[in-house]
Amino acid sequence: MIIDCHGHYTTAPKALQDYRDAQIAALKDPARPPYDGSINISDDQIRESLEGAQLKLQRERGTDVTIFSPRASAMAHHIGTATTSADWSRQCNDLIHRVCTLYPSNFVGVCQLPQSPGVPPENVIDELVRCVDELGFIGCNLNPDPSGGHWTAPPLIDKYWYPVYEKMVELDVPAMVHVSSSCNPVFHATGAHYINADTTAFMQFIQGDLFKDFPTLRFIIPHGGGAVPFHWGRYRGLAQDMKRPTLEEHLLKNVFFDTCVYHLPGIELLLKVVPVDNILFGSEMVGAVRGIDPRTGQYYDDTKKYLDALSLSDGDRYKLFEGNARRVYPRIAKRLTS
Ligand SMILES: [Zn+2]
Repeated sequence: MIIDCHGHYTTAPKALQDYRDAQIAALKDPARPPYDGSINISDDQIRESLEGAQLKLQRERGTDVTIFSPRASAMAHHIGTATTSADWSRQCNDLIHRVCTLYPSNFVGVCQLPQSPGVPPENVIDELVRCVDELGFIGCNLNPDPSGGHWTAPPLIDKYWYPVYEKMVELDVPAMVHVSSSCNPVFHATGAHYINADTTAFMQFIQGDLFKDFPTLRFIIPHGGGAVPFHWGRYRGLAQDMKRPTLEEHLLKNVFFDTCVYHLPGIELLLKVVPVDNILFGSEMVGAVRGIDPRTGQYYDDTKKYLDALSLSDGDRYKLFEGNARRVYPRIAKRLTS
């Protein structure tokens, strides 16, 4: 089985964006109550939105199941209030649940959290529990920067975040560290903000002792870990200078990387530097980079092709494509058999 650990519903029917537009429009007049409209999307519209996109690509690329979450750049936690974020997250998560119900062997859900700048993270717990317990989701996307590029929240190792971690541990679900759109023009969302955040999260984890407090807490750092694998020596050296344990002891029981690196040399480097036990196959399709690489004639985000080009042992192949995902997202086992 081939599990793609990183996919978003980027092709959702237009009614979802119409809801969001109306919600944002209502924010312009503070005297107005929060928008409380509903979303009318038929099952056929959902099927249509996936058949020519994610499902077609699954078939063409030979992947079986995608760990699927709402469109990350649309989470936009910086917009509106905690209520705005709660309503929007609920709508997005419910739609993911409908996708997973229509295609139970193709998609398994991961939730968006209703974060909001300046609002304590424990505010997200009810929605996390609802998604895991009621909707059968297996993880969440945690935004380390709900301000959208201004980095006003404490680092991920701060006790500020602990209530969420306690619940994640209790539910036995991991979080993908995933920022959303950038409202700071300095940072292009997918080209800079995403990669910065991946790198930043890893350095924060080095600086703290988070996994002493939460030995079973698990994070996936997406987009191949940002700049981390390329600068592995820097991070090893920084950990050493800071009298931290080695990266293996300090982080690698808890921190994992996906393969959303869109060229073969990047994947080769990732596999060379990061232990295979810490890498999960992911493509983030249909997502940030949608074109075809003229040098190879293949889609940049067809990351399975890069892995297929390596001479991997059967054991390593199993870990990358299935085994590590089952370990990091243990709740997937039940979803795949039910
Ligand atoms: Zn993503």
